[in-house]
Amino acid sequence: LRAIRYHPISSRIAATYRSLSTLVLAEHEGGSIKASSISAVEAAKSIGNENSVSLLLAGSGPSLKEAAEHAALCHPSISQVLVAESDNFTYPLAEPWAKLIHVVHQKGDYSHIIAASGSFGKNIVPRAAALLDISPVTDVTEISDSNIFVRPIYAGNALCTVRYTGSSPCMLTVRSTSFSVASTSADSNSKPASIDQVDLSNFSEDDAVGKSRYIKLSSQETERPDLGNARVVITGGRALKSAENFKMIEKLAEKLGAAVGATRAAVDAGYVPNDLQVGQTGKIVAPELYMAFGVSGAIQHIAGMRDAKVIVAVNKDADAPIFQVADYGLVGDLFEVIPELLEKLPDK
Ligand code: FAD
Repeated sequence: LRAIRYHPISSRIAATYRSLSTLVLAEHEGGSIKASSISAVEAAKSIGNENSVSLLLAGSGPSLKEAAEHAALCHPSISQVLVAESDNFTYPLAEPWAKLIHVVHQKGDYSHIIAASGSFGKNIVPRAAALLDISPVTDVTEISDSNIFVRPIYAGNALCTVRYTGSSPCMLTVRSTSFSVASTSADSNSKPASIDQVDLSNFSEDDAVGKSRYIKLSSQETERPDLGNARVVITGGRALKSAENFKMIEKLAEKLGAAVGATRAAVDAGYVPNDLQVGQTGKIVAPELYMAFGVSGAIQHIAGMRDAKVIVAVNKDADAPIFQVADYGLVGDLFEVIPELLEKLPDK
Protein backbone atom coordinates (compact mmCIF):
# COMPACT_ATOMS: atom_id res chain seq x y z
CA LEU A 1 0.00 0.00 0.00
CA ARG A 2 1.43 3.32 -0.93
CA ALA A 3 -0.37 6.36 0.40
CA ILE A 4 0.17 9.91 -0.66
CA ARG A 5 -0.14 12.48 2.06
CA TYR A 6 0.80 16.10 2.17
CA HIS A 7 1.94 18.12 5.10
CA PRO A 8 -0.52 20.96 5.65
CA ILE A 9 0.35 23.79 3.34
CA SER A 10 2.27 26.26 5.39
CA SER A 11 1.12 29.85 5.34
CA ARG A 12 4.77 30.67 5.04
CA ILE A 13 6.47 30.46 1.70
CA ALA A 14 6.91 26.88 0.56
CA ALA A 15 10.44 25.64 0.46
CA THR A 16 12.09 26.99 -2.62
CA TYR A 17 15.69 26.14 -2.53
CA ARG A 18 18.12 28.48 -4.20
CA SER A 19 20.64 25.70 -4.22
CA LEU A 20 20.99 22.46 -2.35
CA SER A 21 23.34 22.48 0.58
CA THR A 22 23.07 19.85 3.25
CA LEU A 23 24.28 19.70 6.80
CA VAL A 24 24.67 16.18 8.21
CA LEU A 25 24.69 15.82 11.99
CA ALA A 26 27.30 13.21 12.78
CA GLU A 27 27.99 10.94 15.69
CA HIS A 28 31.49 9.78 16.44
CA GLU A 29 33.01 7.18 18.70
CA GLY A 30 36.61 6.27 19.42
CA GLY A 31 37.89 8.78 16.85
CA SER A 32 35.72 7.51 13.97
CA ILE A 33 32.47 8.61 12.38
CA LYS A 34 29.72 6.07 13.05
CA ALA A 35 28.56 4.04 10.06
CA SER A 36 25.00 5.31 10.54
CA SER A 37 26.19 8.93 10.08
CA ILE A 38 28.01 7.94 6.88
CA SER A 39 24.68 6.52 5.67
CA ALA A 40 23.14 9.92 6.39
CA VAL A 41 25.76 11.41 4.04
CA GLU A 42 24.71 8.85 1.42
CA ALA A 43 21.12 10.08 1.88
CA ALA A 44 22.33 13.67 1.39
CA LYS A 45 23.94 12.52 -1.86
CA SER A 46 20.58 11.15 -3.09
CA ILE A 47 19.05 14.59 -2.53
CA GLY A 48 21.44 15.87 -5.15
CA ASN A 49 24.39 16.92 -3.03
CA GLU A 50 27.09 15.01 -4.87
CA ASN A 51 30.03 16.94 -3.47
CA SER A 52 28.75 19.64 -1.19
CA VAL A 53 27.78 18.06 2.08
CA SER A 54 28.88 19.69 5.32
CA LEU A 55 29.27 17.40 8.28
CA LEU A 56 28.81 18.75 11.80
CA LEU A 57 30.80 17.11 14.58
CA ALA A 58 30.81 18.18 18.18
CA GLY A 59 32.54 17.08 21.32
CA SER A 60 35.75 17.57 23.20
CA GLY A 61 39.10 15.89 23.69
CA PRO A 62 41.61 14.24 21.33
CA SER A 63 39.09 11.78 19.85
CA LEU A 64 37.23 14.74 18.29
CA LYS A 65 40.30 15.68 16.26
CA GLU A 66 40.74 12.08 15.10
CA ALA A 67 37.05 11.89 14.20
CA ALA A 68 37.35 15.12 12.17
CA GLU A 69 40.28 13.64 10.24
CA HIS A 70 38.28 10.47 9.61
CA ALA A 71 35.28 12.56 8.54
CA ALA A 72 37.37 14.48 6.02
CA LEU A 73 38.15 11.24 4.20
CA CYS A 74 35.21 8.96 4.89
CA HIS A 75 32.86 9.88 2.00
CA PRO A 76 33.57 11.68 -1.30
CA SER A 77 30.43 13.83 -0.97
CA ILE A 78 31.69 15.59 2.16
CA SER A 79 33.26 18.90 1.22
CA GLN A 80 33.47 20.46 4.67
CA VAL A 81 33.77 19.15 8.21
CA LEU A 82 32.53 21.61 10.82
CA VAL A 83 33.93 20.97 14.28
CA ALA A 84 32.33 22.41 17.42
CA GLU A 85 34.75 21.85 20.23
CA SER A 86 33.43 22.50 23.72
CA ASP A 87 32.85 20.61 26.96
CA ASN A 88 29.17 21.41 26.41
CA PHE A 89 29.10 18.77 23.64
CA THR A 90 31.01 15.98 25.39
CA TYR A 91 27.72 14.11 25.70
CA PRO A 92 25.02 14.20 23.03
CA LEU A 93 22.34 16.06 24.98
CA ALA A 94 19.49 17.57 22.97
CA GLU A 95 19.54 21.06 24.49
CA PRO A 96 23.11 22.17 23.62
CA TRP A 97 23.08 20.28 20.31
CA ALA A 98 19.80 21.89 19.20
CA LYS A 99 21.20 25.33 19.94
CA LEU A 100 24.41 24.45 18.12
CA ILE A 101 22.42 23.44 15.01
CA HIS A 102 20.57 26.73 15.21
CA VAL A 103 23.85 28.67 15.37
CA VAL A 104 25.42 26.68 12.52
CA HIS A 105 22.32 27.00 10.31
CA GLN A 106 22.21 30.79 10.79
CA LYS A 107 25.63 30.94 9.18
CA GLY A 108 25.28 28.17 6.56
CA ASP A 109 21.62 28.65 5.52
CA TYR A 110 21.28 24.99 4.59
CA SER A 111 18.49 23.65 2.40
CA HIS A 112 18.53 20.31 4.29
CA ILE A 113 19.66 19.11 7.70
CA ILE A 114 19.92 15.32 8.07
CA ALA A 115 20.70 12.86 10.85
CA ALA A 116 20.53 9.08 11.05
CA SER A 117 17.37 7.83 12.69
CA GLY A 118 19.04 6.35 15.78
CA SER A 119 18.71 7.46 19.37
CA PHE A 120 21.08 10.40 18.68
CA GLY A 121 19.02 11.78 15.78
CA LYS A 122 15.66 11.00 17.37
CA ASN A 123 16.75 12.89 20.48
CA ILE A 124 18.24 15.96 18.83
CA VAL A 125 16.33 16.58 15.60
CA PRO A 126 12.85 17.32 17.05
CA ARG A 127 14.27 19.90 19.46
CA ALA A 128 16.42 21.55 16.80
CA ALA A 129 13.41 21.60 14.44
CA ALA A 130 11.31 23.32 17.11
CA LEU A 131 14.01 25.98 17.52
CA LEU A 132 14.05 26.50 13.75
CA ASP A 133 10.22 26.51 13.71
CA ILE A 134 9.89 23.74 11.17
CA SER A 135 8.35 20.27 11.10
CA PRO A 136 10.89 17.45 10.56
CA VAL A 137 10.24 14.45 8.31
CA THR A 138 11.33 11.37 10.24
CA ASP A 139 12.42 7.81 9.45
CA VAL A 140 12.87 8.42 5.73
CA THR A 141 13.62 5.28 3.71
CA GLU A 142 13.64 6.71 0.19
CA ILE A 143 14.35 10.11 -1.31
CA SER A 144 12.49 10.73 -4.57
CA ASP A 145 13.30 14.41 -4.90
CA SER A 146 14.72 17.20 -2.78
CA ASN A 147 11.33 17.59 -1.08
CA ILE A 148 9.61 14.23 -1.68
CA PHE A 149 10.35 11.43 0.75
CA VAL A 150 9.05 7.95 1.51
CA ARG A 151 8.63 6.83 5.10
CA PRO A 152 6.99 3.76 6.64
CA ILE A 153 3.83 4.12 8.70
CA TYR A 154 1.64 1.67 10.67
CA ALA A 155 4.70 -0.28 11.89
CA GLY A 156 6.03 -0.57 8.34
CA ASN A 157 2.78 -1.94 6.85
CA ALA A 158 2.30 1.04 4.55
CA LEU A 159 4.67 3.42 2.86
CA CYS A 160 3.74 7.06 2.90
CA THR A 161 5.05 9.51 0.31
CA VAL A 162 5.45 12.93 1.87
CA ARG A 163 5.98 16.23 0.07
CA TYR A 164 7.69 18.74 2.32
CA THR A 165 6.13 22.15 1.82
CA GLY A 166 7.47 23.90 4.89
CA SER A 167 10.12 26.55 4.97
CA SER A 168 13.82 25.91 4.70
CA PRO A 169 15.70 24.02 6.06
CA CYS A 170 14.02 20.70 5.42
CA MET A 171 15.02 18.52 8.36
CA LEU A 172 15.11 14.75 8.06
CA THR A 173 16.02 11.65 9.99
CA VAL A 174 16.89 8.76 7.68
CA ARG A 175 16.99 5.02 8.26
CA SER A 176 20.60 4.04 7.81
CA THR A 177 19.63 0.56 6.60
CA SER A 178 18.02 2.20 3.55
CA PHE A 179 21.09 4.24 2.60
CA SER A 180 23.91 1.79 3.02
CA VAL A 181 27.36 2.73 1.79
CA ALA A 182 29.42 0.13 -0.04
CA SER A 183 32.73 1.38 1.30
CA THR A 184 33.23 3.84 4.13
CA SER A 185 36.27 5.59 2.77
CA ALA A 186 36.49 8.26 0.11
CA ASP A 187 37.90 7.48 -3.29
CA SER A 188 41.70 7.68 -3.10
CA ASN A 189 41.64 10.34 -5.86
CA SER A 190 39.19 12.59 -4.06
CA LYS A 191 40.71 15.35 -2.00
CA PRO A 192 39.99 15.43 1.73
CA ALA A 193 37.25 17.76 2.94
CA SER A 194 38.24 20.99 4.65
CA ILE A 195 38.07 20.97 8.45
CA ASP A 196 36.74 24.21 9.96
CA GLN A 197 36.08 25.16 13.56
CA VAL A 198 32.57 26.41 14.38
CA ASP A 199 32.56 29.91 15.81
CA LEU A 200 30.90 29.41 19.19
CA SER A 201 30.94 33.07 20.24
CA ASN A 202 27.12 33.16 19.84
CA PHE A 203 26.77 30.10 22.06
CA SER A 204 26.37 31.02 25.71
CA GLU A 205 26.72 28.75 28.74
CA ASP A 206 22.96 29.20 29.30
CA ASP A 207 22.36 27.49 25.95
CA ALA A 208 23.99 24.36 27.31
CA VAL A 209 21.72 24.11 30.33
CA GLY A 210 18.54 22.16 29.87
CA LYS A 211 16.21 19.79 31.61
CA SER A 212 18.27 16.73 30.79
CA ARG A 213 21.55 15.84 32.44
CA TYR A 214 24.09 13.22 31.47
CA ILE A 215 24.44 10.52 34.12
CA LYS A 216 26.31 7.60 32.58
CA LEU A 217 26.70 5.41 29.55
CA SER A 218 26.22 1.66 30.02
CA SER A 219 27.33 -0.39 27.08
CA GLN A 220 28.20 -4.01 26.64
CA GLU A 221 31.78 -4.91 25.76
CA THR A 222 31.43 -7.31 22.87
CA GLU A 223 33.42 -8.40 19.88
CA ARG A 224 30.25 -9.13 17.97
CA PRO A 225 29.25 -6.79 15.12
CA ASP A 226 26.93 -3.89 15.85
CA LEU A 227 23.30 -5.07 15.59
CA GLY A 228 22.23 -2.12 13.43
CA ASN A 229 24.86 -2.79 10.73
CA ALA A 230 25.56 -6.54 10.98
CA ARG A 231 25.47 -8.71 7.84
CA VAL A 232 24.00 -11.62 9.82
CA VAL A 233 21.63 -11.40 12.79
CA ILE A 234 20.58 -14.36 14.97
CA THR A 235 17.48 -13.60 17.03
CA GLY A 236 15.89 -15.47 19.88
CA GLY A 237 12.39 -15.14 21.25
CA ARG A 238 10.46 -15.94 24.39
CA ALA A 239 10.67 -19.66 23.56
CA LEU A 240 14.29 -19.70 24.78
CA LYS A 241 12.77 -19.66 28.29
CA SER A 242 15.81 -18.36 30.21
CA ALA A 243 18.95 -16.23 30.03
CA GLU A 244 20.97 -19.43 30.38
CA ASN A 245 19.29 -21.01 27.33
CA PHE A 246 19.72 -17.76 25.38
CA LYS A 247 23.48 -18.46 25.43
CA MET A 248 22.79 -21.01 22.64
CA ILE A 249 21.81 -18.07 20.42
CA GLU A 250 25.02 -16.26 21.41
CA LYS A 251 27.14 -19.35 20.59
CA LEU A 252 25.49 -19.67 17.21
CA ALA A 253 26.09 -15.97 16.54
CA GLU A 254 29.78 -16.41 17.42
CA LYS A 255 30.09 -19.27 14.94
CA LEU A 256 28.51 -17.21 12.18
CA GLY A 257 30.21 -13.89 13.04
CA ALA A 258 26.72 -12.52 13.61
CA ALA A 259 25.05 -9.98 15.88
CA VAL A 260 22.50 -11.16 18.44
CA GLY A 261 18.94 -9.86 18.39
CA ALA A 262 15.93 -10.52 20.60
CA THR A 263 12.21 -10.00 20.65
CA ARG A 264 10.63 -7.67 23.16
CA ALA A 265 9.20 -10.68 25.00
CA ALA A 266 12.73 -12.08 25.45
CA VAL A 267 13.98 -8.68 26.63
CA ASP A 268 11.04 -8.18 29.01
CA ALA A 269 11.65 -11.64 30.45
CA GLY A 270 15.21 -10.53 31.26
CA TYR A 271 17.05 -13.00 28.99
CA VAL A 272 19.07 -10.19 27.36
CA PRO A 273 19.46 -6.40 27.71
CA ASN A 274 17.07 -4.17 25.81
CA ASP A 275 19.68 -2.81 23.38
CA LEU A 276 19.31 -6.15 21.56
CA GLN A 277 15.60 -5.67 20.89
CA VAL A 278 14.63 -5.74 17.23
CA GLY A 279 11.36 -4.19 16.12
CA GLN A 280 9.13 -1.19 16.11
CA THR A 281 10.33 -0.06 19.53
CA GLY A 282 13.80 -1.56 19.15
CA LYS A 283 16.43 -1.56 16.42
CA ILE A 284 15.64 -1.63 12.71
CA VAL A 285 17.90 -4.10 10.95
CA ALA A 286 18.36 -5.08 7.31
CA PRO A 287 21.06 -7.78 7.31
CA GLU A 288 21.80 -10.17 4.47
CA LEU A 289 20.70 -13.07 6.68
CA TYR A 290 18.23 -12.93 9.59
CA MET A 291 17.64 -16.14 11.58
CA ALA A 292 14.74 -16.15 14.03
CA PHE A 293 14.44 -18.92 16.64
CA GLY A 294 11.24 -19.24 18.66
CA VAL A 295 9.90 -15.93 17.38
CA SER A 296 6.17 -15.78 16.64
CA GLY A 297 6.44 -12.93 14.13
CA ALA A 298 4.31 -10.26 15.79
CA ILE A 299 3.74 -7.20 13.60
CA GLN A 300 5.88 -5.06 15.93
CA HIS A 301 8.81 -7.46 15.55
CA ILE A 302 8.44 -7.77 11.76
CA ALA A 303 8.58 -3.95 11.53
CA GLY A 304 12.22 -4.14 12.57
CA MET A 305 13.48 -6.94 10.31
CA ARG A 306 11.26 -7.18 7.25
CA ASP A 307 13.98 -5.63 5.03
CA ALA A 308 16.44 -8.46 5.72
CA LYS A 309 17.49 -10.05 2.41
CA VAL A 310 17.05 -13.67 3.52
CA ILE A 311 14.88 -14.59 6.51
CA VAL A 312 15.13 -18.02 8.14
CA ALA A 313 12.63 -19.00 10.82
CA VAL A 314 12.55 -21.96 13.19
CA ASN A 315 9.33 -22.37 15.11
CA LYS A 316 7.49 -25.43 16.38
CA ASP A 317 4.13 -23.96 15.36
CA ALA A 318 3.59 -24.36 11.61
CA ASP A 319 1.01 -21.54 11.71
CA ALA A 320 3.31 -18.97 13.33
CA PRO A 321 3.07 -15.65 11.42
CA ILE A 322 6.87 -15.49 11.08
CA PHE A 323 6.58 -18.09 8.31
CA GLN A 324 4.64 -15.58 6.20
CA VAL A 325 7.73 -13.42 5.85
CA ALA A 326 10.37 -16.18 5.99
CA ASP A 327 12.27 -17.26 2.88
CA TYR A 328 13.18 -20.54 4.60
CA GLY A 329 11.10 -22.01 7.40
CA LEU A 330 11.69 -25.03 9.58
CA VAL A 331 8.91 -26.38 11.77
CA GLY A 332 10.83 -27.79 14.67
CA ASP A 333 11.96 -27.49 18.25
CA LEU A 334 14.75 -24.95 18.66
CA PHE A 335 16.19 -26.99 21.53
CA GLU A 336 16.93 -29.72 18.97
CA VAL A 337 17.72 -27.53 15.95
CA ILE A 338 20.24 -25.16 17.56
CA PRO A 339 22.44 -27.87 19.16
CA GLU A 340 22.48 -29.68 15.81
CA LEU A 341 23.50 -26.48 13.99
CA LEU A 342 26.22 -25.82 16.61
CA GLU A 343 27.56 -29.29 16.09
CA LYS A 344 27.53 -29.18 12.30
CA LEU A 345 28.78 -25.64 11.70
CA PRO A 346 32.56 -25.29 11.63
CA ASP A 347 34.20 -22.95 14.14
CA LYS A 348 34.78 -19.44 12.82
P1 FAD B 1 5.78 -15.17 21.52
O1 FAD B 1 4.81 -14.34 20.76
O2 FAD B 1 5.33 -15.74 22.81
O3 FAD B 1 6.24 -16.33 20.55
C1 FAD B 1 7.03 -17.40 20.92
C2 FAD B 1 7.09 -18.34 19.71
O4 FAD B 1 8.00 -19.38 20.00
C3 FAD B 1 5.75 -18.97 19.39
O5 FAD B 1 5.47 -18.75 18.00
C4 FAD B 1 5.95 -20.46 19.66
O6 FAD B 1 5.29 -21.29 18.72
C5 FAD B 1 7.45 -20.58 19.49
N1 FAD B 1 8.03 -21.67 20.29
C6 FAD B 1 7.76 -22.02 21.58
N2 FAD B 1 8.58 -23.01 21.97
C7 FAD B 1 9.37 -23.32 20.91
C8 FAD B 1 10.41 -24.25 20.70
N3 FAD B 1 10.83 -25.06 21.68
N4 FAD B 1 11.00 -24.28 19.50
C9 FAD B 1 10.62 -23.46 18.49
N5 FAD B 1 9.64 -22.55 18.63
C10 FAD B 1 9.03 -22.47 19.83
N6 FAD B 1 8.12 -7.04 19.97
C11 FAD B 1 9.34 -7.05 19.43
O7 FAD B 1 9.93 -8.13 19.22
N7 FAD B 1 9.98 -5.88 19.11
C12 FAD B 1 9.42 -4.67 19.31
O8 FAD B 1 10.06 -3.64 19.02
C13 FAD B 1 8.11 -4.62 19.86
N8 FAD B 1 7.49 -3.44 20.06
C14 FAD B 1 6.22 -3.44 20.54
C15 FAD B 1 5.53 -2.23 20.66
C16 FAD B 1 4.25 -2.21 21.12
C17 FAD B 1 3.53 -0.90 21.23
C18 FAD B 1 3.61 -3.42 21.49
C19 FAD B 1 2.19 -3.43 21.96
C20 FAD B 1 4.26 -4.63 21.38
C21 FAD B 1 5.58 -4.66 20.91
N9 FAD B 1 6.27 -5.85 20.79
C22 FAD B 1 7.51 -5.86 20.21
C23 FAD B 1 5.75 -7.12 21.33
C24 FAD B 1 5.12 -8.02 20.27
O9 FAD B 1 3.77 -7.67 20.12
C25 FAD B 1 5.20 -9.51 20.69
O10 FAD B 1 4.59 -9.65 21.96
C26 FAD B 1 6.61 -10.05 20.78
O11 FAD B 1 7.33 -9.75 19.60
C27 FAD B 1 6.53 -11.57 20.95
O12 FAD B 1 7.81 -12.07 21.17
P2 FAD B 1 8.13 -13.61 20.89
O13 FAD B 1 7.90 -13.89 19.44
O14 FAD B 1 9.47 -13.87 21.46
O15 FAD B 1 7.11 -14.37 21.83
